[in-house]
Amino acid sequence: DGLGVVTSVLRIPSAQPPHLVIAEDNLNTIDTLQDYLSAQGYRLSFARNGEEAIDLIREQRPDLVLMDIQMPGMDGLAVITTLRQDPNFQHLPIIALTALAMNGDREQVLAAGATDYISKPVKLSQLDRSIRTLLAG
Ligand code: MN
Repeated sequence: DGLGVVTSVLRIPSAQPPHLVIAEDNLNTIDTLQDYLSAQGYRLSFARNGEEAIDLIREQRPDLVLMDIQMPGMDGLAVITTLRQDPNFQHLPIIALTALAMNGDREQVLAAGATDYISKPVKLSQLDRSIRTLLAG
């Protein structure tokens, strides 16, 4: 029936590996994440600052975002706040990465609209768990 046709059309995008945008300014962290996540089969795009991240996310509509909080210029908190004001990105999974591990950081990051929070140095097993959970919806 007609509904069956619609359903199969809607399933086409999920045949591709999930697309992740990674906003990060630290080269060592970029290398680590690229090695690990490309080996997992994800499609990856990188932004090196907040302004690039906004442009890339609006253009590419990724399935999930890893967002470093400490970046030059527009920081990760400002990017998340901006994205959440856009109806297209209110439900986009965003995992915040932050070097700060002080009390209150987690709350601040989640209040800005991050879906999850991982402190640096990033434990890859924890990151993997968070990504899989969020992509599963
Ligand atoms: Mn940084």
